[in-house]
Amino acid sequence: MNVDEKIRQFFPILSQQVHGKPLIYLDNAATTQKPITVTDAVSDYYETINSNVHRGAHYLSTLATEAYEKARIQVQKFINAKYSHEIIFTRGTTEGINLVAATFAQKMLKADDEVIVSRMEHHSNIVPWQLACEKSGAVLKVVGIDQNGDLLLDDYQQLFTKKTKIVAITHTSNSLGTINPIKQIVDIAHQHQVPVLLDGAQGIKSCGIDVQAVDCDFYCFSGHKIYAPMGIGVLYGKEHWLEQLPPYQGGGEMIKHVSFEKTTFNDLPFKFEAGTPNVAGAIGLQHALQFVEEVGHQQMIDYEKELLRYAVEQMKEIENIRLIGTAKEKSAIISFLLGNHHPADTGTLIDFMGIAVRTGHHCTQPLMDYLNIPGTVRASFAVYNTKKEIDVFVKALCSAQNMLD
Ligand code: PMP
Repeated sequence: MNVDEKIRQFFPILSQQVHGKPLIYLDNAATTQKPITVTDAVSDYYETINSNVHRGAHYLSTLATEAYEKARIQVQKFINAKYSHEIIFTRGTTEGINLVAATFAQKMLKADDEVIVSRMEHHSNIVPWQLACEKSGAVLKVVGIDQNGDLLLDDYQQLFTKKTKIVAITHTSNSLGTINPIKQIVDIAHQHQVPVLLDGAQGIKSCGIDVQAVDCDFYCFSGHKIYAPMGIGVLYGKEHWLEQLPPYQGGGEMIKHVSFEKTTFNDLPFKFEAGTPNVAGAIGLQHALQFVEEVGHQQMIDYEKELLRYAVEQMKEIENIRLIGTAKEKSAIISFLLGNHHPADTGTLIDFMGIAVRTGHHCTQPLMDYLNIPGTVRASFAVYNTKKEIDVFVKALCSAQNMLD
């Protein structure tokens, strides 16, 4: 399959009109659209084999269990994990990070220990660690960034002390598009025997990950940001870490035996999958990853980068535009402001021209405070976007600018 206009046929949602104009969907960092192979797989599941997994002795339950476990293996291959039991299905990135932060706080953190995060983190990779610190008495330390949005690696190195217990950093910034040097980040932490959690919410689609090559200890992502349904996500954890951490939630599937005196817990990955899982979501995720593989992930990444290059070139010509985030390595995310106009006004005006972008702080308030701006307008690309759409978008921005001026 080639990355070209044919791809759009897989996404019927894109052929509609909004406000009487053809929809141009540039809010892919918030969530991607789903190909019909994914929506078909989800409805097929409910129409043919819907059943609860692992527990039933009957035909449908066996099929549903097989399908669910097949999805786990697809994820394992996609991120090159060593074992399929290192793949924990979650609701999304946020739940994965909360799982690690809460269980790490319970077992590994004590008063005055230190947790390193960065200034460009999404709230989902700040607040769980703040809660973990509150519970344990540990303290949060923050790696700085420069004005372009690059992480200050020297600053990062300086932050390590004997009390550093974990690093939690984003693979790719959802506000600035910065792609962080994750291999270096992990290597530096490992020199201090400190594990690293990578927030892969954006990185999974825009960069891809080989967890063994990068050697990260945890990697979290959400299916919905890589063409899969909402409500399904993945926490990858190295076996020895997942073995050491205590269960996160209690309930069905995560136990071996329950008595009022003592409960014993199930093996990985089930120890961390309490309750009925999102089987349809896991199957949808499997089909989304298959779609990416069939198109070619590297081809998709290259295509998105080409869209980024083209868009930046066009947008630089717009009078008074301020591009926010010009890191050396960037994913296909452009944050910007039109002069001093409020981002929400720009977003609303171009929405009426059929263009969907995100405006605001993008759940990175500490980053916006540091940059001293209320927020940005953010356009983010996916495989189905085209240069023609970018032309319309740039024209729309020029009209919005005129109206606002
Ligand atoms: N981290 C980053 C970098 C993100 O972009 C997002 C989603 N905007 C999240 C975490 C949270 O993802 P979710 O809401 O799917 O859990």
